[in-house]
Amino acid sequence: MTCKHMNFDASVDVCRIEDKGRFMAEIRIHCKDCGVPFQFMGLNPGLDFNGATVSLDGLEANIGIHPQGQQPNPLQKLMGYSINKTN
Ligand SMILES: [Zn+2]
Repeated sequence: MTCKHMNFDASVDVCRIEDKGRFMAEIRIHCKDCGVPFQFMGLNPGLDFNGATVSLDGLEANIGIHPQGQQPNPLQKLMGYSINKTN
């Protein structure tokens, strides 16, 4: 019987890049019933601390993150707000 993938497990690890003071969320999702991992769509492979990328096998999404207040949020960007003190 083919699994319809009804239940999921998701894991998020946060890695801290020591020398750069940057942070990245590493996200993986698999079916809880059959164990098949899910592939992320629409992301380019690579590493981008200011964006979202995917591992070469497509199974791990990596998204750059910051503590709140260190970078303008989307609303502040819309309003033309900028923070010049970045790493
Ligand atoms: Zn499944």
